[in-house]
Amino acid sequence: MMMPDPAGKARWVLETKNITGIPALALHDIAKSEKIPVRMEAFPDEPGFSGELLFKGDRRAIIVNTHIPSPQRHTFTFAHELGHYFLGHAPTYEQDDAAGILCTAEGIKTGSSKMEREANTFAVELLMPENRFLPMMFGAAPDFALIKSLARQFQVSKQACGYRILDFTREQCAILYSENARISGYKVSRSGKGFLRNIKQIPQGTLAHEAISTKQGQETFQECDPEKWLVRYTALTQLYSCTRGIFEKGLAMTILRWS
Ligand SMILES: [Zn+2]
Repeated sequence: MMMPDPAGKARWVLETKNITGIPALALHDIAKSEKIPVRMEAFPDEPGFSGELLFKGDRRAIIVNTHIPSPQRHTFTFAHELGHYFLGHAPTYEQDDAAGILCTAEGIKTGSSKMEREANTFAVELLMPENRFLPMMFGAAPDFALIKSLARQFQVSKQACGYRILDFTREQCAILYSENARISGYKVSRSGKGFLRNIKQIPQGTLAHEAISTKQGQETFQECDPEKWLVRYTALTQLYSCTRGIFEKGLAMTILRWS
């Protein structure tokens, strides 16, 4: 049996459904064309529950938990559930005459199983297709202005957009998310793989740490000691960092670039 190619499947959906506008705004049309009812509903008692693909006989339905007030998160979950559908994933639980694939925020975030990772790959390509996203980067490395502008154009979260830029940039760079200086998520560009220290916290004595502890975002990229961040560097390595955040909530995003 051919292994499904999640990104290829997403491109196939965009082509066959003739989606030429912003894909994020076409998800309801895609579901409708497959006769899949979609329920956007808040489940405040289940904050860890993101979404579900429901199976009932031949019929399918999608539920998206809108409890967390972020339309971009709902969009991503919706695209992720469409991924389970188009990739033909089997239900993970059965109950009475219904079955389903239940997706948690944690499972989606970490790609906790092969199915979750495939649905994520599908969602990323569906929402930010390479052939449209790449030309709009103009070969640039990630910075806050580029992430903001592309996130707005594709109607996705800044996090999803920043990570997508890292899929394509040729530069050595990384994006790190932190919560009260504890790293909660990160991604490294292709050419930057193997350079970053295995760290759990934003290192003390860095501009990133200073920005977080003084609750003051950096206006621009500033040079920083590579030893704090990298395992591999030489006397010639130059590393730049820029940190901004919603400091009153303890949330920060750090972009690192080095060469
Ligand atoms: Zn899932």
